[in-house]
Amino acid sequence: MKAKINEIFFSIQGEGVLIGTPTIFIRLYGCNLRCSWCDSMYSVEGDDFKELSISNIIKETQKYRCDNICITGGEPLLQFDFVTLLTEKLLKVEKKIILETAGHISPPKIYQNINTIVSMDCKCPSSKMEGKSNKKNLLNLSKKDQIKFVIKDETDYLYAKKLTENNNFNANIIFQPVWGSNPGIIADKVLKDNLDVRVLPQIHKNFWGDIKGK
Ligand code: SF4
Repeated sequence: MKAKINEIFFSIQGEGVLIGTPTIFIRLYGCNLRCSWCDSMYSVEGDDFKELSISNIIKETQKYRCDNICITGGEPLLQFDFVTLLTEKLLKVEKKIILETAGHISPPKIYQNINTIVSMDCKCPSSKMEGKSNKKNLLNLSKKDQIKFVIKDETDYLYAKKLTENNNFNANIIFQPVWGSNPGIIADKVLKDNLDVRVLPQIHKNFWGDIKGK
């Protein structure tokens, strides 16, 4: 079995609960959404991919002394069976896996494993994909997982606030300001509204800018 892979690289996890952790990123090609602020369109359009087998990928990850693997995209779950099998194989060699997904496809059951994290987006209005993240999928996440709201403006903030307050999400909630916006404005709102969420910027972009392979 092979999958379309855009890139494999070693960097710092710049988002969410594992922020700051050295991580190997496996970026799968292809996505059926089109978020207005997508920062990885090179993995969505343009046919920039290689077809790699699971053994090719595992060999590539062995170049780095690192147990954290992030499976990202694009939308990785469009290649569902491959992601399931790859995750099984990586767990067997004692890797810890985080899967980044947009929330419109249910993750495979293997993502109930304690050594995995699902990082699921909840798309806000400015993405132009509002409502695409399936609420049932968000509610099914557990404490080890995270829900990421990418927030661009006041409308997005109010949308994320309402959903957070009105649902019993088990997962960690991340409010992530869109790159280029002022994270302090969102942090102030969270404090004023006393929300039980984490406000986190994308720190890899602070380190290197918005570039591919980092
Ligand atoms: S779901 Fe992710 S990869 Fe797809 S368009 Fe949106 S931000 Fe880009």
